[in-house]
Amino acid sequence: MRRAILLGASGSIGKQTIDILKGQDDIVLVAVSVYEHSDILDELLKDQNIKAVYMKDASGFYDRYPEINFFDGDDGILKMMEAVEYDLVINALVGYVGFKPTYKAISEGKDVALANKESLVVGGDIIKAMMQKTGAKLYPIDSEHSAIYQALKGSDHDEIKRLIITASGGAFRDKKRNELINVTKAEALAHPTWSMGAKITIDSATMMNKGFEVIEAHHLFDIDFDKIDVVIHKESIVHSLVEFSDASILAQLSEPDMRLPISYALFDKHQAFDGAKTLDLLRSPLTFLPLDDDRFPLVKIAKAVGKLGGNLAAYLNGANDTAVSLFLNDKISFLKIEEMILRVLKDAYYKKEVDINDIDQAYHHACDLVYSYINEDIR
Ligand code: MG
Repeated sequence: MRRAILLGASGSIGKQTIDILKGQDDIVLVAVSVYEHSDILDELLKDQNIKAVYMKDASGFYDRYPEINFFDGDDGILKMMEAVEYDLVINALVGYVGFKPTYKAISEGKDVALANKESLVVGGDIIKAMMQKTGAKLYPIDSEHSAIYQALKGSDHDEIKRLIITASGGAFRDKKRNELINVTKAEALAHPTWSMGAKITIDSATMMNKGFEVIEAHHLFDIDFDKIDVVIHKESIVHSLVEFSDASILAQLSEPDMRLPISYALFDKHQAFDGAKTLDLLRSPLTFLPLDDDRFPLVKIAKAVGKLGGNLAAYLNGANDTAVSLFLNDKISFLKIEEMILRVLKDAYYKKEVDINDIDQAYHHACDLVYSYINEDIR
């Protein structure tokens, strides 16, 4: 039996993880983070194994759940990780806040089932170096990386020719660039195939999400950026593919249901779960289209950033987190997200050799830069 900490329990991946964990006893939850979603605590804490909870503000909850150890504040998640004994972290946090918990778990030799993209995007090199040292493993929850992970089972690294990551194209796949000028938040949030949280749905519409996934794939599977391609596949049935040295291609197909990659990451095998839906191969044709780098420049930019390495992906991430939150708060238009990101990359203080503090500095500098552009625009 493995003891797990679930970070981001109240989000879309977190809730589906709880769903998968019901009715099995290989993994028990011993701690969770719910940020400001206290409404799910009553239900969650029926699980007697959960002894610690992280919240944005835990005051007012100590009396209600006297047997629970509450944590809050900036380093609350890291403190909670120190206070409980665990074997696995399931990291479903959204944004940069997920990086340090991943790094901490890996540093302590604990495995991580990883849905948080930003961990590898900003800190891939230092996380990989730490994994070598401690022997900890990463299990990808993202559907694309899970597909590649599944396709690679039983193969050696030198058999791989390239990875092909599929992209639904997000909410604006069929719009031309000049049609994006006046798109609304509601339109951006209407993803055609996947039901996900707001931040990642916007990242899908800008394709920043796919750019991050390319960087993640590079780190997860040790593949050069030039050997990672992206194709548009609007049906979201083929979750990604691997081409081998003999030109054979293996793909993983399923209905778009995040519970499948979550389950695979948790148990590292195909394990039945309630409601797993068989794919109807006869339902619709599967289509593949090339990615237009002019229409969706952020994938190409992410690749270039990934190749340069160092602290630049932390800048990319800080710029994106801040710009997307400004868009979600109706402060900037959709295309401004991209504009802000490009501007931050131009203004970045690039550093090649980095540690965790350099990454932190770069991330926060990027956030400050975005706010400074907004203030200029207002003036
Ligand atoms: Mg994905």
